[in-house]
Amino acid sequence: MDYRDSPEEAQFRTRLRDWLDGIAGTFPTSGDEYWARQGEWHRALYEAGFFGLSWPREFGGQDLPPVYDVILDEELAVASAPPRPGLGYLVAGFGRHASRQLQQRFLPGMINGSERWCQGFSEPGAGSDLASLRTTATRDGDEYVIHGHKIWTSYSDVADWCLLLARTDPDAPRHKGISAFVIAMKQPGVEQRPLKMISGVTKEFGQVLFDGARVPADQMVGEPGEGWPLAMTVVGHEREPSTLGFTARYAKLVRQLASRVDGPAPDELAWAAVQTEMLRLHVRRRLSEQLDGITHGPDGSLDKLLMTWVDQAVGHAALAVGGTRDPELLGAYMYSRAQSVMGGTSQIQKNIISGRILGLGA
Ligand SMILES: Cc1cc2nc3c(=O)[nH]c(=O)nc-3n(C[C@H](O)[C@H](O)[C@H](O)COP(=O)(O)OP(=O)(O)OC[C@H]3O[C@@H](n4cnc5c(N)ncnc54)[C@H](O)[C@@H]3O)c2cc1C
Repeated sequence: MDYRDSPEEAQFRTRLRDWLDGIAGTFPTSGDEYWARQGEWHRALYEAGFFGLSWPREFGGQDLPPVYDVILDEELAVASAPPRPGLGYLVAGFGRHASRQLQQRFLPGMINGSERWCQGFSEPGAGSDLASLRTTATRDGDEYVIHGHKIWTSYSDVADWCLLLARTDPDAPRHKGISAFVIAMKQPGVEQRPLKMISGVTKEFGQVLFDGARVPADQMVGEPGEGWPLAMTVVGHEREPSTLGFTARYAKLVRQLASRVDGPAPDELAWAAVQTEMLRLHVRRRLSEQLDGITHGPDGSLDKLLMTWVDQAVGHAALAVGGTRDPELLGAYMYSRAQSVMGGTSQIQKNIISGRILGLGA
């Protein structure tokens, strides 16, 4: 395997570096300031030709291989620019399950950043056990009426649209009675309540209460009852390493931490350095497999688990070097705790690995 850039990739990297040189330091990379300006950052990336690289050209992407996304992630980290907004799960969900009409209506705005989105899956009583969700969608003429309570909805405060899971058939087996919708967030019957994170961030996510909100029936994504397969597409995508490509960010933080240490490095830092390099090589291998047309099913759970270990190893190193005195390093540690929860907890990944890869249990 040769991991060096091809001539086209090298050219792309140079063009990107030049652009980043011009805007370095313009956008905040963390905290509430980052979340407040994320939409603006998305549009700046898109307009410069650096967003949606591996997505379909007909909807505003560039049809490039996923390695370009990794180059983008690497260069953004090197330039201390904010990460690219993570919307791949939506594009994947729409690509596989939405009608052509819905794809044409929604994918361009999603990709170019003119319309903001959120994911309304989790509920107070339905996170790991998503199939027990209780939000209902009841048909009323050409519309469905939504009642329910979503939680941990990232970007709910700024979203124009929500990819919502709701129960349309209470009598069907629980995985089969769920459908997916594109629902407008700015309408009567939708209330958004922000949630403050332990890292201090108040802008990232909220609870969303639906009380009689309405959605046109033709904004159902896929067929009635196709909500569960769509959810599996989405979470499967969230677990792929090329979309979890924060390795460059981890490596940079590890180098910064190392430069702050006088004398012997703490064990946590050495471990984080080893883990980061392991993940970098692992992501490279997965990308090269993708280029060879090899697709992964439940293996995504291994990737997600590895990525979580690395994220949290780097978080521990940040805490070991900065203690609780440095708010930025403390924030990095705090945020790393979320990694073993978001996109499916580590315990759930282990269940999937034991059942679907190792064939253990019933
Ligand atoms: C930063 C962040 C962003 C998020 N963004 C979104 C979003 O945009 N949209 C959205 O819908 N959701 C989002 N979530 C929610 C996320 O998907 C859920 O938090 C996650 O699925 C876990 O669900 P839960 O919090 O209800 O925990 P629970 O499912 O209640 O789990 C509690 C504990 O029990 C363990 N557990 C549960 N079931 C099992 C089992 N069968 N075997 C072993 N252990 C088990 C879990 O591993 C965990 O440790 C986000 C979460 C975070 C942290």
